Amino acid sequence: MLEEGLWKTLGDLLKRYGVVDKFREQLVVVEWDMEAPPAARKARPLYVKDKILYLGVPSHALAQELHLQKEKIVKELRRRGYDIQDLRFSVMPPETPPVSVPLKIAITPDDETWARKALEGQELPPRLRDRMVALLAAARARERAMLAAGACKCRACGATYFGDGDICPICYVEKTDT
Ligand SMILES: [Zn+2]
Repeated sequence: MLEEGLWKTLGDLLKRYGVVDKFREQLVVVEWDMEAPPAARKARPLYVKDKILYLGVPSHALAQELHLQKEKIVKELRRRGYDIQDLRFSVMPPETPPVSVPLKIAITPDDETWARKALEGQELPPRLRDRMVALLAAARARERAMLAAGACKCRACGATYFGDGDICPICYVEKTDT
């Protein structure tokens, strides 16, 4: 279950930014549930670009509150080993599945085979490779479960997400961020 929350957005992020090069850069996003500074816990990590961490927050009030603590949050993230220099906040509704039953995520051997194939030809330390195979397989299984539960596919990037509109929260932010 921990795996599920932790690596929630990994598949989408890897698809978007390339499998290996950006893995470390996006690590703060997938490890957020465990590593978020307490002050920023109510924010939802979206992605990292040019050392800026983009965060989704449910209200303008919270965005303002977090904005005031930005320096402190960045400092804390850097202390935890993430190479982040700034934060941006976007107000968006929290991502919640339309159904109250938990997603039934089942990782199959096929998911693992697929993940190994996706990483073929990449120079990776064995431990990092194993970690990434597990994450990718989990992300793929999760995507399947989300689609079965009524999630949609983003028109722009193909990522799976719950919500209204026809583009995912990340594309939404990228489109509105200038
Ligand atoms: Zn998208």
